[in-house]
Amino acid sequence: MSDTRSLAIGDTIGILGGGQLGRMLAQAAATLGLKTHIFCPDPASPAFDVAYTYTVAAYDDKDALEGFAKSCCAITYEFENVPGETATFLESQCVLRPGAKALEVSQDRLFEKEFLTSAGVAIAPFADIKNEADLQTALSRFGGKGVLKTRRFGYDGKGQVMIREASGAQGALAHLNNAPAVLEGLIAFDREVSVIVARDASGTCAAYELTENRHEHHILDTSTVPANASEDLRCKAKEMAVQIANKLNYVGVMGAEMFVVPAENGGEEQLLVNEIAPRVHNSGHWTQDACLCSQFEQHIRAVAGWKLGSCERHSDVVMQNLIGDQVNAYADILSEPNAKLHLYGKAEARPGRKMGHVNRTSPRA
Ligand code: AMP
Repeated sequence: MSDTRSLAIGDTIGILGGGQLGRMLAQAAATLGLKTHIFCPDPASPAFDVAYTYTVAAYDDKDALEGFAKSCCAITYEFENVPGETATFLESQCVLRPGAKALEVSQDRLFEKEFLTSAGVAIAPFADIKNEADLQTALSRFGGKGVLKTRRFGYDGKGQVMIREASGAQGALAHLNNAPAVLEGLIAFDREVSVIVARDASGTCAAYELTENRHEHHILDTSTVPANASEDLRCKAKEMAVQIANKLNYVGVMGAEMFVVPAENGGEEQLLVNEIAPRVHNSGHWTQDACLCSQFEQHIRAVAGWKLGSCERHSDVVMQNLIGDQVNAYADILSEPNAKLHLYGKAEARPGRKMGHVNRTSPRA
């Protein structure tokens, strides 16, 4: 049965992780009259600037976690690598939304693929790779090509090797330090898209419109809405995301990344789910300025046990990430009439570091 407990105005939501996602969640919570308590080991966490209170401690510090749980009416997280033990402990002390199951599934690519298959959504062909022999067998199944990915701790293209020809397999496992891995078939996709879906404590779902994503050096560069996709494809993508959220008995906002695969023999384009993120997602930042209720507010509403808002979009929008020294363009962006700037308050603009983003809106076409 669903746990439908709900928070009262002024109650505190705990957030594990103090990055920009935690920061924007805390801002959304404040808008709804809720307080936030951020838990993060990094004393320079961007979310601390905007939270009611915070704790600097390691994720396995039981005493600190216990004190944190006591101060909160519900707890959530802004990253998927929350240690399993931490999630289980917090779940025994407080309401944890989304629950530990969503973490288990999304932390391990093999579990994730098995789960997605059981949820009935299409994904790339995959194989469990424990050693060189497994890799060779799987490669011959997938036409000698594939993407080898570590089961755990991969992100933004890290922890993966693209194998385009037989020679590319040499040293691939060693490159991943022989970590347990999966091989995926190499998908000749046309575009990358995502759906941000929210599910509340009573099981009601709401999904935002399909988003088209472009990456630079494996890091999200832009998200464009509306996406280049037929009405049918947009509906299918939303349905798939809802199917996944329901199967997980999920509470909160979840990102589902997908590939659009070209039509075969004049048929329709197909969607394959690449991965899910049990949290607010970078490809949903556009919702802040193109919708009445952003993904951050939706997540806070769901975690609080409140009703979801509308996912309706009132504007066309392109979200652009400001990575590393791209943030130095902030003064120019401020003078653009249709640009809404979001900066994360990070002191040092290191290469590859997400420093902020900008939403450029125009009236809905
Ligand atoms: P991921 O870490 O799974 O999000 O992968 C990072 C990027 O690698 C994706 O955004 C794709 O551009 C590419 N990629 C991942 N998996 C595949 C695949 N099976 N076939 C082709 N490209 C892939």
